Amino acid sequence: MSAKRKILFISTLALGLLTLMVVVLVTLSFRDYGIASAKEKSKLTAELVRDALTAHMINGVMDKREYFLDKITRSENVKKMWLVRAPSVEAQFGPSLYGESMRDAIDRKVLEEGKASEILKESAKEVTLRVTIPYIADSKGLPNCLSCHEAKEGEVLGAISMIFDIDSFRSTGLSTTLKILAAATALLLLTVYLVGRLITPYTELFEAFRKSLHHAEEGDFTHKVSTPLKDEMGELAKWLNSLTEKLHQVVSDIDRRISILIAYNKNQYNSNPLIRTKEIIGELADVYKFRRNIELLDKKEEVYDNITAIFLYKLNLKRFTIIQVQNGIEELIYPRDEEEAGSTLLQFSAQYVHAIPLYRDSANNVFSGYMPKENEYYINASFAISPSVLWQLSFAFDQYKEYERAKNLVSVIYNYLDAAKAILHTRMLMEMLKESSLRDPLTGLYNRKFLEEYIESATHQALRSKTTYAILMIDVDFFKMVNDTYGHDVGDQVISGLSNIIQNTIREADLAVRFGGEEFIVLLYNSAPEGAERVAQKIRTRFSEMVFEVNHERFSKTLSVGISMFPEDGPTVWRAIKFADIALYKAKESGRNQVVRFHSSMLPDGFNY
Ligand code: GH3
Ligand code: MG
Ligand code: MG
Repeated sequence: MSAKRKILFISTLALGLLTLMVVVLVTLSFRDYGIASAKEKSKLTAELVRDALTAHMINGVMDKREYFLDKITRSENVKKMWLVRAPSVEAQFGPSLYGESMRDAIDRKVLEEGKASEILKESAKEVTLRVTIPYIADSKGLPNCLSCHEAKEGEVLGAISMIFDIDSFRSTGLSTTLKILAAATALLLLTVYLVGRLITPYTELFEAFRKSLHHAEEGDFTHKVSTPLKDEMGELAKWLNSLTEKLHQVVSDIDRRISILIAYNKNQYNSNPLIRTKEIIGELADVYKFRRNIELLDKKEEVYDNITAIFLYKLNLKRFTIIQVQNGIEELIYPRDEEEAGSTLLQFSAQYVHAIPLYRDSANNVFSGYMPKENEYYINASFAISPSVLWQLSFAFDQYKEYERAKNLVSVIYNYLDAAKAILHTRMLMEMLKESSLRDPLTGLYNRKFLEEYIESATHQALRSKTTYAILMIDVDFFKMVNDTYGHDVGDQVISGLSNIIQNTIREADLAVRFGGEEFIVLLYNSAPEGAERVAQKIRTRFSEMVFEVNHERFSKTLSVGISMFPEDGPTVWRAIKFADIALYKAKESGRNQVVRFHSSMLPDGFNY
């Protein structure tokens, strides 16, 4: 029920009830008044009749008696009146000439008991009051009854019965009631009119407030309130309009600015723009915190772990793969283990890894697919970390609901990747830079710097895991002559040639390092001295069989190798290298083009480990 209707209903009800109460009170009052005045009149009449008749009797004007009684009977409201003579009076004076004998049981009862009787009869047609009053013998009154009547003090001498018509009081009451009703109806109509005229703009304004606030509560601030009122309510309407206008502007402004900062899918957030803004700002803060965290990380692998932790624990994505594609080489970033990734998911990911640019959906950045055969759902998304590094992400779900949820999360995933992108790119560049500083550009082998950086940890690790290394120290014989005779470039060719021979002779677990000019160190993993010697001989003969050609002139070179064993010969890899160098010196000294195994006897006297 609207406010206006309520006001009208309540005022009508109040006026109606008030009218009803007044009508009832007026009706009752008129009735009581009628009865009371009839009773009063009956008493007066009884006394008047008694005194008048006594006077008539004393004065001997009995012929005027009928005229008097008739006059009284005709007086207002008196319907009937008759006198009753008591049997004792009849015995003394004889029966009345005027028929004054008992007419009914009430007359008899009053004569017998000496008490007045009042009987009210109300019907729809009329209202009458029957009053019967006894005349009682009294010697003290004037005149003295006992002077004429042979009666005792207090004896009932007769009675007077009157029937009053008090219907007129009721009809007067009724007409008054009708007047009140008419006045009340007029008042009611006036009230309804005034309420309608004066209250309508307010009730309409309330309704407009209600609508505007309801829309505002749902985040729609465009609903304005209009009112012709110029008072405080009109002012209130203006305030509300200006408030919603400002809110609308602020929210749209925030929405626009946020969309520059991060990508977001409206479906993912609350439809109310105020709540949505709060949620998106929360998301923005999370992404910012994430970026601050990963900025502190040195290794790209740590950044990978942080990204996958967000996917796993914040976004609740449980099955996914991240494949990194760089220069056509694919690397599984997550999970590290191919088996863990699951073959179907990997197949799915691989299916699109080459299909760049990817199939894109309406969000223009993702392909999502459905494989009915396995009853599984997939989302495939690609993201460029740098111009040459692309991430291929595949997410798998066994429930449609989960798939739908994740589709809305794609923009969040992109926000996190976007935050990580620059950091990942720099970490990758730094690692590349570092890697290149540890490699020799001519041969692609690790350099001396690498050995220096890693030798310490390699020693500890090898001792812990009981790994042994055979160390070969290789040096070309009379290399300076090549440079001097054919030039530096030819010298470089010889170095490259030797490097290729070394790499093709050793196994993958072994490590070759270009230690200096034409000097190489090879660490043979878990190799016995005999095996190491075999490898050294192979390198030596292969190199000596290598023919170099410069300006139609052909030449070959030889090399010498010193071998030591770690930890058998030296307690650290570094010390063992030193011993291999001593063995190499021995090989040079004893004629070159040979392999010499280190022996402690080669150490100078007093050498201190
Ligand atoms: P030995 O048999 O005693 O080893 O005689 P060697 O002439 O080979 O003497 P050594 O090993 O001391 O010679 C090192 C020479 O290698 C010195 C330098 O001219 C040359 N060299 C060092 N690095 C390079 C390089 O990168 N390219 C070229 N072409 N020559 C280099
Ligand atoms: Mg040399
Ligand atoms: Mg040398």
